[in-house]
Amino acid sequence: MTEGRADNRDRPFLPYGRQLIDEGDIRAVADVLRSDWLTTGPAVERFEDALRQATGAAHAVACSSGTAALHLAAMALDLGPEDCIVVPDMTFAATAAAPAFTGARVVLADVDAQTGLMGPDHFQAALARAPGPVRAVFPVHLNGQCADLAAIGAIARPRGIRIVADACHALGSRYMQEGRECRAGGGDADMTVFSFHPVKTIAAGEGGAIVTGDEALAARLRRLRNHGITRDPEDFTAAGAVDPAGKVNPWHYEIHEIGLNYRLSDIHAALAYSQMGRLEDFIAKRRSLHDEYCSALAPLAPTVGTIRALPGQNPAWHLAVALIDFAAAGIGRGDVMRALRERGIGTQVHYIPLHRQPAFADAGRGVNFPGAEAYFAKALSLPLHAGMQRGDVHRVVETLTKILKALS
Ligand SMILES: *Cc1c(COP(=O)(O)O)cnc(C)c1O
Repeated sequence: MTEGRADNRDRPFLPYGRQLIDEGDIRAVADVLRSDWLTTGPAVERFEDALRQATGAAHAVACSSGTAALHLAAMALDLGPEDCIVVPDMTFAATAAAPAFTGARVVLADVDAQTGLMGPDHFQAALARAPGPVRAVFPVHLNGQCADLAAIGAIARPRGIRIVADACHALGSRYMQEGRECRAGGGDADMTVFSFHPVKTIAAGEGGAIVTGDEALAARLRRLRNHGITRDPEDFTAAGAVDPAGKVNPWHYEIHEIGLNYRLSDIHAALAYSQMGRLEDFIAKRRSLHDEYCSALAPLAPTVGTIRALPGQNPAWHLAVALIDFAAAGIGRGDVMRALRERGIGTQVHYIPLHRQPAFADAGRGVNFPGAEAYFAKALSLPLHAGMQRGDVHRVVETLTKILKALS
């Protein structure tokens, strides 16, 4: 094992994910700092325009994080304690936690063991055991691969169930539907949520957004992200809006519903906008690294598997997940992760199924999640980010191969 360490001794640590910042990004942020606006202003508008173009959605509402975006989406649907929502078991906690803050009850759905995606059958099974009326479903485009929103929609729409897609992994992902190419956020969901956390496809530092084709929802989201405040005189109903002469009082604003401060700052938006200019490059790099992993890991089959794009899918891969049969390899996942870390390679597990988390235990009590369990048992996210160098994938796979062979 020492030869592995010697190989890697002088190389910088390779994390599983990280941002790629260039001088243009730094200039964009510095320019905002020299301008009049630091909070939501022209940079946020520019970024929202770029997001509309990138997704094909009619409206984009930027906010302070992907988690805030999920919470805003749930608020805009008026979810509350009377409602149930369906969330896949295999996702980041925020997909369930943020809408749960409306009081809505989370019903967890199982996922496919190979892709980690919630399919229509999993959704249907979750509907059948929901303890109350289901008002919304939150499909997750896990790893950048899109959930089958057409099939999920065919079940949801006739029942009046709204669809909020969690596309935090999938900015720029494309898929074919009925012979036409769709983009994540481009129309199959009522709202689609993105995150610009540094490990995601583009970085804002912290940031998120909701895109939608529904103008009324977009207006509501904008209001909710800014304390529920409206300054549009057309909307005014409260006393004191106008003076005795009928002129609108310049200080007047109204709050018709309770909102929060979920605004994105112009500082963050400037970075995100600058990064958007390189979105296609970032995606191309991620795709080529993912392809490289699939080829390089192929000789380790069947002990090590990879996630291939489903038919009709062209994912903007967010994660490079190896599905490792640790039992067959005769080594625990923790030992593999520690050995990789010692050799300068960072890995992570995406995700621990939500039903295993004490805070969500109620949402899955008495239910089995064989798909999520099988996926979780094998998943290991290998380094995948736009800043990776030539040879990095080879180094990761070679190191992993040595660890699995030496300890098995
Ligand atoms: C990152 C992520 C979120 C949360 O986004 P933040 O910007 O970190 O709040 C939600 N869902 C998924 C699937 C994510 O990967």
